[in-house]
Amino acid sequence: MITQVLPPTDENIERAAQQLTLGKLVGMPTETVYGLGANALDEAAVRSIFAAKGRPADNPLIIHVALPTALEPYCEVNARAYKLMEAFCPGPLTMLLPKKPSIPSVVTAGLPSVAVRLPSHPVAQKLLKACGVPVAAPSANTSGKPSPTTAAHVLNDMQGKLEIILDGGECQVGLESTVIDLTSTIPTVLRPGGITPEMLQSVLGEVQVSDSVMRPLRPGEKALSPGMRYRHYAPSGKLTMVKGEPSRVAAVIKRLANEKNSEGQSVRIFAFEEHLSAYQGMDVVSIGSLSNPETVAHKLFSVLRQADGDQVPILYSEILPAQGLGLAIMNRLGRAAAFTEIDADETEKEP
Ligand code: AMP
Ligand code: MG
Repeated sequence: MITQVLPPTDENIERAAQQLTLGKLVGMPTETVYGLGANALDEAAVRSIFAAKGRPADNPLIIHVALPTALEPYCEVNARAYKLMEAFCPGPLTMLLPKKPSIPSVVTAGLPSVAVRLPSHPVAQKLLKACGVPVAAPSANTSGKPSPTTAAHVLNDMQGKLEIILDGGECQVGLESTVIDLTSTIPTVLRPGGITPEMLQSVLGEVQVSDSVMRPLRPGEKALSPGMRYRHYAPSGKLTMVKGEPSRVAAVIKRLANEKNSEGQSVRIFAFEEHLSAYQGMDVVSIGSLSNPETVAHKLFSVLRQADGDQVPILYSEILPAQGLGLAIMNRLGRAAAFTEIDADETEKEP
């Protein structure tokens, strides 16, 4: 099969919608990351998503619809969900709600809840309206790899596995949606994203953040959100995060990079725009501005994928505080680094 990346003209969106109704996969842009979509009501089509991604069958999918009114046939929409939708939807927010029987259990990996989202990207909105069915769509990457934020990233992972990728440009947010469980007594963030816990609290009052967000699962621990079990967002190179006071962080990273370089290994450094000059003469790339975390979220996966493309085996990254949007950024960076971290304030302490 030849995969085509197509501009999102009305005609091409109509073609993509036809593919969906025929049970085929489509690459679609959203404001978070690109999705690999299939008709959520077609069991065989949904199975082909898992096959194309190499995704474990016990990791459930998010279903996408254009409008709040389209949700009723598929889940029990409660008062909290309506409040959140009024505030943040369409947008980068996924809600877990009790599932209705119309959604095949393959979508939810047998769970009694279903994850639902209303994407705001105009191309996703048009596609969802054109096909008239809920679209199950995980991120359009090979399972475990950083999520795609451009059509070219999708092509790289999915070539030959689908006919159409709609090119909606670079994803604006750049990180996957916030996942909030609305079936628990206290609404619980299972995956941080563009809608921060603070924003959710401002609408719902009490909201908790699952403590597994900022650490790997313990052996034998049951994940609240099955996706948290797996190695995720990982580049092929070995990524280490370095925390601490910026000049100490730069000193540690430069020393380690020089050591590796002298052993003949190439190293890439991910640094904030504000600190780039500290790494002059080294292979350093900007991961956006420390004073504007939106720019970091927007670039992160692209920078990780670029390191893969350039086959860099060793990567060091600066980090930012895990607050606000920083929580989502550090959740992804942490997983990409398997939570490997050096504390520069410890390493550089005066003896
Ligand atoms: P992705 O489709 O790649 O954005 O991943 C979807 C995320 O939502 C994964 O972390 C899933 O484990 C999680 N998820 C989807 N449905 C459910 C559900 N019913 N219960 C808990 N987590 C879910
Ligand atoms: Mg994913």
